[in-house]
Amino acid sequence: MFDLEMIKAVYSRFPERITAAKKHLNKPLSLTEKILYAHLWVGNATTVYERGNSYVDFAPDRVAMQDATAQMALLQFMQAGRPKVAVPSTVHCDHLILAKDGAKQDLATSMEVNKEVFDFLSSVSDKYGIGFWKPGAGIIHQVVLENYAFPGGLMIGTDSHTVNAGGLGMLAIGVGGADACDVMAGLPWELKFPKLIGVKLTGKLSGWTSSKDVILKVAGILTVKGGTGAIVEYFGEGAESLSCTGKGTICNMGAEIGATTSVFGYDSKMSDYLKGTGRSELASASDEIADYLTGDKEVYQNPEKYFDQVIEINLSELEPHINGPFTPDMAWPISQFAQAVKDNQWPAELEVGLIGSCTNSSYEDITRAASIAKQANDSGIKAKSEFTITPGSEQVRYTVERDGYLETFEKMGGVVLANACGPCIGQWARHSSDPNRKNSIITSFNRNFAKRNDGNPNTHAFVASPEIVTALAIAGDLTFNPLTDYFTNNKGEKVKFAEPLGIEMPINGYAVEDAGYQSPAVDGSNVVINVSPTSNRLQLLEPFSAWEGQDLKGLKLLIKAKGKCTTDHISMAGPWLKFRGHLDNISNNMLIGAINYFNEQPDKVKNQFTGEYGSVPSTQRDYKARGIGSIVVGDENYGEGSSREHAAMEPRFLGVRVILTKSFARIHETNLKKQGMLALTFADKSSYDLIQEDDSFNLLGLTTFTPNKPLRLVINHKNGTTDTINCNHTYNGQQIEWFKAGGALNIIRKQVLV
Ligand code: SF4
Repeated sequence: MFDLEMIKAVYSRFPERITAAKKHLNKPLSLTEKILYAHLWVGNATTVYERGNSYVDFAPDRVAMQDATAQMALLQFMQAGRPKVAVPSTVHCDHLILAKDGAKQDLATSMEVNKEVFDFLSSVSDKYGIGFWKPGAGIIHQVVLENYAFPGGLMIGTDSHTVNAGGLGMLAIGVGGADACDVMAGLPWELKFPKLIGVKLTGKLSGWTSSKDVILKVAGILTVKGGTGAIVEYFGEGAESLSCTGKGTICNMGAEIGATTSVFGYDSKMSDYLKGTGRSELASASDEIADYLTGDKEVYQNPEKYFDQVIEINLSELEPHINGPFTPDMAWPISQFAQAVKDNQWPAELEVGLIGSCTNSSYEDITRAASIAKQANDSGIKAKSEFTITPGSEQVRYTVERDGYLETFEKMGGVVLANACGPCIGQWARHSSDPNRKNSIITSFNRNFAKRNDGNPNTHAFVASPEIVTALAIAGDLTFNPLTDYFTNNKGEKVKFAEPLGIEMPINGYAVEDAGYQSPAVDGSNVVINVSPTSNRLQLLEPFSAWEGQDLKGLKLLIKAKGKCTTDHISMAGPWLKFRGHLDNISNNMLIGAINYFNEQPDKVKNQFTGEYGSVPSTQRDYKARGIGSIVVGDENYGEGSSREHAAMEPRFLGVRVILTKSFARIHETNLKKQGMLALTFADKSSYDLIQEDDSFNLLGLTTFTPNKPLRLVINHKNGTTDTINCNHTYNGQQIEWFKAGGALNIIRKQVLV
């Protein structure tokens, strides 16, 4: 499945580009810099990019999409008119599977409930040359690690834990669907050149301490915001001693500190993993350019000179950690945790222990946890808490079943769930009499924000390694410390757990009968994509219309938003997520979270034609029906938050013409430009105060729309007076063409059709 020729072509660029970058920058390079310079869109480095400030175009090698976010990314991609994706891409059906009764039943139910979405993703993949991983095949990041990740690669994925592939030496970054669409359509991908955080690992793990504890410790040091705008690079003899999948666990949870991504340099553990997962030729190709696939010695010897921040952790002294509740950066060494539970009056009774997920379901994780479960079985006791196991892929599931580990868990009372996200993303029909009850659970997942797992705001979710989760589930007690405490066996004797023992990779090799992969058609031109016109969840997109070639006159104010207006305020999540693939339906959430400046209420704006107050989407639909365009006015940093393309597509779809703000979050501003919208800022921020509830507007200067030249906005007030203000913009020549064509994809389609 992995494309060795493509990887060799990438590797062939490394020596020349990295040597040129070093010469130009006149310094040794970290691994992060090497990978980024080797993937510049424009070729060899001729510019010094300022970390944390310069926006740079890159050429990623791969795109991966999970089922929930793939829908809109692919609907948009279909607009580009390309016969095939420009870079190797895959779709993974993992997020839509509800965990309830166990793997088999849950998978069957999910296939029925989500049939139209899965069928759509399958047929689009088939048509456009995209690898399709069926429901039950596994969780996107584990499947990518086993099949596609490669040292030195650059990948984007429509999921925040795409970063998992850093465990195999790849820079893998989570993005919104619009970015994935661009790269699949053949456009460059823009990233702010990151700051660099170096984490030096010394010593060696032993006993109960695992890779998970490294990232739990790092999260405690850096907090949930500490990695923002930075790439975390791990190095040192301790890093080299960690298994490849253990490195993946550490990189995976780098998302919890807000890091752009995390990465380890290529080493013998990665080579072993490549060989163990059937990629010996790739291991040889990586060996040949090994020096380019890790940071320069001088950088690792004097990290303070080359990284923006350096952290050092001695693995030999590291204690197992338990993090939480409600935030993954509240880090507790296990020796202090029982006291913290008592001091904070967190529920000490542990109701459920959950292991697995994309973060922690490697062969090593499962065998270490199973070595604890076996001790319970040998002692004739069962877990006091409920206990679930979520394998990360069918390959891992099949192999650990073959080797008897699933049976060990089941004997202890464990339930094996489908190879999918399930409880990790809240797809969990938890058996509970009271959905608001205060209770505790512990998982080996990554996120533990309130309501994340079961929707209950009073569930105290803690995060730990699979072996710690297993031990605590057996004890049924959050205050149990398996390093020091005793449990009672079926003879009434006090027994202490022996330290967990794991096997990095299966002695008899990985195995699988049906991995759940569907290759795309060689020639997809005859593949028909069926979307029912009456579907609630999917809707094919129509290209947005081009600019009419004249100034925009008679625009009405839709809403003047006050204060924070994030992409979540513009396009809310929660129950709306089921309409991600249906632009018309999801547009009914447009700006419903924004606060109306004039009445301080959300989702209540004045319709200037009827004088009545109604919801933002229904008011805008009325304007659209009357053929009238509108303006949305925003405050500072409009559109901050996760890069959600719906937040830019919805106003475009409903006929908003201009978003005028004091300032934009850059990613949202770019997303608006891509959709052919006008994203403008007040030249004088105090002009925000001029906007009144019954205003209409004429936007002038579009026929001479040029970079760095402000547009003029005439504000017509109800009392007959007018104000005329300047509106700034950041459109470059290419982006002005996007506006004129009605969106970036319209331009690509024209180019493809020529
Ligand atoms: S298992 Fe959890 S963290 Fe991993 S991809 Fe699924 S939802 Fe995201």
